[in-house]
Amino acid sequence: MITLEQLKENLENIENRICNACKRAGRSRDEITLIAVSKMNPAEAVIAALDCGINIFGENKVQELCEKYEQIDKCAEWHLIGHLQRNKVKYIIGKTKLIHSVDSLRLAEEIDKESKKKNVVTDILIEVNAASEESKFGVPVCEAEELIREISLLSNVRICGLMTVAPYTENAEDNRIYFKEMKELSVDINSKNIDNVHMNVLSMGMTGDFETAIEEGATHVRIGTGIFGERTYGSK
Ligand SMILES: *Cc1c(COP(=O)(O)O)cnc(C)c1O
Repeated sequence: MITLEQLKENLENIENRICNACKRAGRSRDEITLIAVSKMNPAEAVIAALDCGINIFGENKVQELCEKYEQIDKCAEWHLIGHLQRNKVKYIIGKTKLIHSVDSLRLAEEIDKESKKKNVVTDILIEVNAASEESKFGVPVCEAEELIREISLLSNVRICGLMTVAPYTENAEDNRIYFKEMKELSVDINSKNIDNVHMNVLSMGMTGDFETAIEEGATHVRIGTGIFGERTYGSK
C-alpha cells in the first residue's frame, strides 16, 4: 500500500495541476470536484486519504463500494463510476452520492424502483460513449437526448449531468475533441429545459487527461493512479 508521505505528495501534485488547469481556463478551483478513485486499493488507503482531507471516493464495483462503505467512517462520500448491473442496484441505493454510469432506460428504471422502496431520490449521470469505442459502455452521443427524455419521467431518479470515459491515450490532447463534444452536448441538453433534468455535472478526466478535461469544462475529475499509485491487478 502507498505510504502516507507518498499519498500527500501525490495529492499536492494533483491539486497543483488542477489549480493550474483552472487558471489556464479562467475557471475557479471551486468549480472542480476531485473524486479519488480508490478501486482496488484497501480501505486503509481510503482512511489515509481521509486523513489528508480527501472525502470523495469513486469505486467501479458494487461489492467493493459496499465493503468500503461499511468499513469506513460515514463522512466519506461514495460515487459509483463503473458499469452497473441491474441485479446489483439494490445493494447501493442510499449509499452513493452519485451514480455516474447510467446508460440505459432499463437500468434507470431499476434505480427508480429501488429508490422508491427506500424512499430516496437517487442522483445519476448519463454515461456517454463520446469516442464511439466498441469496448466502452455509454449511450452514443446521438441517442443521449432521447434517453435523457425517457429517464426524466422517472420520479425517484434525478439526472444531474453527463459522464464519459475518454479513450486511453498517452497524449491527453487526443481527447480534447471528446471533452469539447461532451461540453457541447451538455449545453445543448441544458438549453432544452427538460423537466427534472439538470446539467450541472460534467464528469470527465482521469489521471492521464484531467487537465485537458478541466480546460474543456469538466466539473468532476476521477483520479485513481495519480493519487493512490499504480493499481496491482490480480490482488483484488
Ligand atoms: C479507474 C477509473 C478511473 C481512474 O483512472 P486513473 O487512470 O487511475 O486515474 C476513472 N474513471 C473510471 C470510470 C474508472 O474506472
